[in-house]
Amino acid sequence: MIIHYNTIIIGAGPAGLMAAIESYHPDKTTVVLERTTIPSMKFKMTGKGRCNITNSAPLDEFLTHFGKNHRFLRYAFHEFFNNELLKYFTDLGVQIKLERGGRYFPVSDKAIEVVNAMLEKVKSLNIPLHVGKKVDKIIVQDDGTFKVIVKPVNKSDESIGKTIEYTADVVLIAMGGKSYPRTGSTGMGYKLAKDLGHKIISPTPALVSLVTAGKTAKHLQGLSLKNVQVNVWCENKKSDERFGEMLFTDKGVSGPIILSLSKNIILQLLEDKSVFISIDFKPALDDKQLDARLLREINEHGNQNFSSLLKSLLPRKLISVFVDKLGLDADKLLNQITSNDRKRIRLLLKDFRMEVTGYGSYDEAIVTAGGVSIKDINPKTMESRKVKNLYFAGEIIDIDADTGGYNIQGAFSTGWVAGKSIRDKWNYI
Ligand SMILES: Cc1cc2nc3c(=O)[nH]c(=O)nc-3n(C[C@H](O)[C@H](O)[C@H](O)COP(=O)(O)OP(=O)(O)OC[C@H]3O[C@@H](n4cnc5c(N)ncnc54)[C@H](O)[C@@H]3O)c2cc1C
Repeated sequence: MIIHYNTIIIGAGPAGLMAAIESYHPDKTTVVLERTTIPSMKFKMTGKGRCNITNSAPLDEFLTHFGKNHRFLRYAFHEFFNNELLKYFTDLGVQIKLERGGRYFPVSDKAIEVVNAMLEKVKSLNIPLHVGKKVDKIIVQDDGTFKVIVKPVNKSDESIGKTIEYTADVVLIAMGGKSYPRTGSTGMGYKLAKDLGHKIISPTPALVSLVTAGKTAKHLQGLSLKNVQVNVWCENKKSDERFGEMLFTDKGVSGPIILSLSKNIILQLLEDKSVFISIDFKPALDDKQLDARLLREINEHGNQNFSSLLKSLLPRKLISVFVDKLGLDADKLLNQITSNDRKRIRLLLKDFRMEVTGYGSYDEAIVTAGGVSIKDINPKTMESRKVKNLYFAGEIIDIDADTGGYNIQGAFSTGWVAGKSIRDKWNYI
């Protein structure tokens, strides 16, 4: 049996749902095909179940969070940006609040409220959502229309074990990246896009924890640091830096600034370059100010030992690791500390190095870097430059950003532009 729709949208994540709603045309038929039996699984997990929906940063600053491909998004954000998104959800009945760092969340603190608002909207437009339908192949037919081959994955589906053929005039691929594959985003979209002639920029995990050499991280596991600066050294040259919060894990380092640095570090590791992170525990103090601080402590507490000085400078858990790395006797009295000792202490406080030897897998990466080359997609319509009437939206495209609500705004905005272009197309035919 062949089922025909004017538009087939593949993937019921933020990008696919937005595109489905925005492409709605009363005289045309649309279907959303989703491989998992429960739709929008990743969407429901966003922001630790609270969904950090977007960020208040102005356009130019917002774009800088997307790295080198940010230009691709300028038009989409110009058309549908954070304020439009906030209004969109308010109109759907979701109240939104602003938190620190310009992050917006639903007042209910429940991502499911945001997801349900979109699913309800899709339903109210009579757009069917076929769940448990894994798209296996897309074929461009001689007349330019598409055949979409689907394998049902739900055991209770009467078509299980068979394939179902859909046909469509327009197809939109919003199949996400490779991260959190258990939510249905397994990277299959890359294969389908490649088979249709698109260039795929090698995917890598991004916004992911890093693995460091030795036992330092293990000793410090669970310790989180605020207001530190992390500098990245690649082949002995400083290549990046971030200020903020980080934490130690059993295998290495994680937390907001590490996640943001991860993508570029991974790219350097993939080129077999040596990468170190250097933690500056006292970024607000320069060498002179730090020395003055040390001298003051030493003069005031000369009869105390060296580790008591560190208690005023570092979290308790760090002290023994710091002392070991420094190679000074923890019991040495402060009035015996030499100027050379002070210099070594200052250096380590400002430059605590750890070698990065690896990174977390897709199972824990918040997003995937890489994907369908932006050169193969028209940024004003999201239509493929290789295949007419084929569209892309969301994380499958080679765009990714820092944490803070930027990624999902990227998915919503590209989904909105693709949806609008499809609707406009129907108006002109
Ligand atoms: C734990 C976690 C927390 C996050 N929190 C935030 C946050 O708070 N704010 C933020 O901005 N970003 C966040 N992100 C990133 C955000 O989730 C993504 O940017 C966003 O989901 C991308 O949307 P998408 O629609 O492009 O892809 P996805 O959400 O990945 O959706 C793709 C859909 O396509 C379906 N699909 C895949 N293959 C097939 C197939 N063969 N056939 C049919 N369907 C298929 C998948 O099952 C999936 O439902 C988070 C990510 C994770 C993993």
